[in-house]
Amino acid sequence: MIGEPIRKIVIVGGGTAGWMGAAALSKVMGPFPGLEIELVESEAIGTVGVGEATIPQISLFNSMLGLDENEFVRETHATYKLGIEFVDWTRLGHSYVHPFGFYGVDMMGIEFHHHWLKGRSIGDTSELDEYSIAVVGGKTGKMAWPARDNPRSPLSKLSYAFQFDAGRYARFLRGRAERQGVRRTEGRITAVERDGASGFVTAVMLESGTKVEGELFIDCSGFRALLIGQELGVPFTDWSEWLPCDRAVAIPCTLAGDREPLTRSTARPAGWQWRIPLQHRIGNGHVYCSEYMSEDEATAMLLANLEGEPLAEPNQLRFKAGYRARAWEKNVVALGLAGGFLEPLESTAIHLVQAAIARLLALFPTRAFGAKEIARFNEETERDYIDIRDFLVLHYNATERDDSEFWNYCRTLAPPEGLAEKLAMFRSSGRIFREHNELFTETSWLSVLVGQGIEPGGYHPAADLLPDAETLKRLAHIREVVAQTAEQMPTQDEFLAANRSAI
Ligand code: FAD
Repeated sequence: MIGEPIRKIVIVGGGTAGWMGAAALSKVMGPFPGLEIELVESEAIGTVGVGEATIPQISLFNSMLGLDENEFVRETHATYKLGIEFVDWTRLGHSYVHPFGFYGVDMMGIEFHHHWLKGRSIGDTSELDEYSIAVVGGKTGKMAWPARDNPRSPLSKLSYAFQFDAGRYARFLRGRAERQGVRRTEGRITAVERDGASGFVTAVMLESGTKVEGELFIDCSGFRALLIGQELGVPFTDWSEWLPCDRAVAIPCTLAGDREPLTRSTARPAGWQWRIPLQHRIGNGHVYCSEYMSEDEATAMLLANLEGEPLAEPNQLRFKAGYRARAWEKNVVALGLAGGFLEPLESTAIHLVQAAIARLLALFPTRAFGAKEIARFNEETERDYIDIRDFLVLHYNATERDDSEFWNYCRTLAPPEGLAEKLAMFRSSGRIFREHNELFTETSWLSVLVGQGIEPGGYHPAADLLPDAETLKRLAHIREVVAQTAEQMPTQDEFLAANRSAI
């Protein structure tokens, strides 16, 4: 190994990103003698205070930390989540679900949806949603464990995530991290010291005069991007052209209606509104584009569409879609909002933090800070952002909506290259390819392509090897089994109580 081992890591910021980083690094690197981890945060500055919806990969992160799932659900007041429901995105009055897990069953070695597409071409009128246990169960408020050991059950196709209180999650992780030896220092950072020759950050200075020195700095300072942006000047790549929403207003409200295991996204005239049911409240927010809607209008629209009573004052947030051109520069690695922002339409921000932590652990530097490792980290991080961006743009671009200037802009924009290729392939033959191990699977792309009304011009020819009558019979059978299984699933509330994870 070239270079001496790192002896001191300083994490700047104690939001979700900071404490996720602290918990993971202290778990994996903590047992090594001679490595110190210190996290600096300022209660006066506070955290962004939003971020409640996740995707199934979070379970990998939690199990890497050794968290007990029921305890995690209780501590973070979480509910289980089977997918995301998109209302009014394709056209007013329309809805579809992006489910976690898979549709139907594999038949004849090709993906299920080719049989469904063939069925449609010979008169079947069923919706793709009817073949997903996550959608049929989720829409009726049901939840169950995946049945991985029973491939004949639709539950074997299920996958789940959580909707939780991100502030509670950060506090929960803080407890773990501190027990694993992380030192927390309270205070506002007012200056940064750097080595004259290398430009490496050597210390952060607090208002109190305390100096916190380190060799590797993890910038988790949120939108301020204190080290990566303000100090090192790494440019921000702006994607507003494709994702023009630049504001959000968030407000929790009392519980009302169902706590279905679905995050709901309802399209509005200049953006969209989220509804995230937790155990103790509903998280709500309105993401919008300031060019087409004022803050007052956006707030009034959100308040008018709450199901329960507001529990706090509206939290106004400003952002830009995009990412830091280099998430790792010199001896600074950016995690979370300091590294970039993509709106929470597909609940990906916390995932980007966990992916970056895993990447940092795999490419962990010595004090020599190898250029190859840094370049690899930056390339992979950029890839993640681009892949997710393309998936988000699909929701806006593939719409029939022409009822506002905002939707006219989104519908007529030129999609990024990767998305344009995916659209062309699906339109020509119904085929979807998951590129370079990207985050979203073929099922995810399928759900949104079909949900947003993209018509495929064909399907895999192998589907025609099955006689038409047999195709229709099998499709009907799958729908029936999915519906019957969903009926027997417990409700979200029954499920929480049965697993002793209710608060
Ligand atoms: P913050 O929470 O902003 O934390 C920054 C930390 O840095 C704080 O501790 C602060 O005190 C500290 N700090 C800053 N400056 C200084 C200083 N000078 N001195 C000392 N300390 C300092 N993600 C999801 O996965 N799902 C969602 O549903 C979701 N919804 C979102 C909705 C909106 C509108 C937004 C804006 C984000 C959403 N996110 C979501 C993203 C999610 O909130 C963040 O990715 C996540 O909370 C991580 O934030 P962070 O820790 O990077 O930053």
